[in-house]
Amino acid sequence: MHKDFKLTIARSVWAELAVAAEKAVPNEACGLLAGRDGNVMKFYPMTNIDASPEHFSMKPEEQFAAVKDMRRMELQMLAIWHSHPSTPPRMSAEDLRLAFTPDVAYVILSLAPDAIPQCRAFVINSGIPQSVEVVITNE
Ligand SMILES: [Zn+2]
Repeated sequence: MHKDFKLTIARSVWAELAVAAEKAVPNEACGLLAGRDGNVMKFYPMTNIDASPEHFSMKPEEQFAAVKDMRRMELQMLAIWHSHPSTPPRMSAEDLRLAFTPDVAYVILSLAPDAIPQCRAFVINSGIPQSVEVVITNE
């Protein structure tokens, strides 16, 4: 995935992300974003089995079920999403260390009151995170 990649997120999905992030406070929320051609159409919320404010691990059974559903719906996994309850939307050292899934973007939604923008997406090339554009659409 290259840096010209752009992720668009339907406003309805965006609202679900915000709710999931708030609900998980003080811990990080996580999930998978699926769609077609860079357009996120579906959010699969996952249980953060780390139950931590600083890192996350998705529950494997939920991941398998989501991937199966994506196949059935003919959707691609576009991004791995998580929230940062109190830090900016940047890839942490831990995030980078665990970013080993190829060909997906990493999307971080920050609940920090001074986070501008609130949401950022990255693709990882040779271990280096590159910021990609996130657009919220009204579809
Ligand atoms: Zn993180």
